[in-house]
Amino acid sequence: MKTKLKIANDEGIKEAAYIIKNYGLVAFPTETVYGLGANALCERSAGKIFEAKGRPADNPLIVHVSSIDMLTGVVESIPEYAYKLIEKFWPGPITLIFKKKSIIPDFVSGGLNTIGVRIPNNRTALELIKEAGVPIAAPSANTSGKPSPTTAAHVMMDLDGKIDMVLDGGNCVFGLESTIVDLSGDASVLLRPGAITVEMLEEAIGQITIQTELLKSDDAPKSPGMKYKHYSPNAKLTIIKCKNSNRIIDFIKQKADANFKKSAVIATEESLYSYKAAGLNAYALSAEGLFATLRKIDDDKVEEAYVHSIEESGIGLAIMNRLKKAADSNIIDLDS
Ligand code: AMP
Ligand code: MG
Repeated sequence: MKTKLKIANDEGIKEAAYIIKNYGLVAFPTETVYGLGANALCERSAGKIFEAKGRPADNPLIVHVSSIDMLTGVVESIPEYAYKLIEKFWPGPITLIFKKKSIIPDFVSGGLNTIGVRIPNNRTALELIKEAGVPIAAPSANTSGKPSPTTAAHVMMDLDGKIDMVLDGGNCVFGLESTIVDLSGDASVLLRPGAITVEMLEEAIGQITIQTELLKSDDAPKSPGMKYKHYSPNAKLTIIKCKNSNRIIDFIKQKADANFKKSAVIATEESLYSYKAAGLNAYALSAEGLFATLRKIDDDKVEEAYVHSIEESGIGLAIMNRLKKAADSNIIDLDS
């Protein structure tokens, strides 16, 4: 299949909508990451998403809508307090999980009776949904297990030849996937941290249960995606907890001398300079640049990458959540 790469102007969006209406796959920009979209009401279309990504069939897709009308068309009921989140954060980077209507094929929800929905805050994404006239199921537009794409070029790297079209709308503003909150049960449960932080959620609806990590490998995941390998670069990734960057520098230099592997350090602006000054191969750590950095270290043939960990509060919770998955929970604490 030849994958068309088109600028996300009116003409590109019209052509993309035509493809969606005709069972095809289009990758499109959102404010979080690029999504791989198909008609969410059509099993045949959604099936192609799983095929192109190599995604396990029990990993549900998030459905993107452009209005509350479209939302009520796909979910069974909306609890009163959900409107507090909707009014405050939509359109925006937060997915809400509700009981689904049968119009959404079980295939789209990974066999669950619930569905994650959001209104994205991106003009191209909203125009595309409106023009297609159907809700669009869209997981991140990467090969399953790889870092999420935040540019059209990242999508092409993974999916060129496997999908009909990529709409190029430039860099994603947030660069991390949406916050996910499950509203289908009695309590509201945070399943994936993101740009809408725990602090922001609790200000809107009060206390929220956090269930973003699996405790043991045999725990049943609340969110099916949790059990799969995620965001992995080819480089071996290690998270280092330590307050003192000099000790991290010594640690990495020692390892590099012993292993003869090309190594790198990933750290926030604050300490980046001290790593560079020490002669280390250093990459910046930020929310919007995280996935691009994970792809870049592979391009640069880095074999061992060390991340200087950050505080798990605010957006730091979301960044560390992705990094722990990318590192397969490989963490060293130099302070203890
Ligand atoms: P992605 O679109 O790649 O960010 O993946 C979407 C993720 O959202 C899945 O891997 C699940 O972890 C989560 N998700 C989507 N729908 C549901 C649902 N109905 N219940 C629980 N988790 C969900
Ligand atoms: Mg994904």
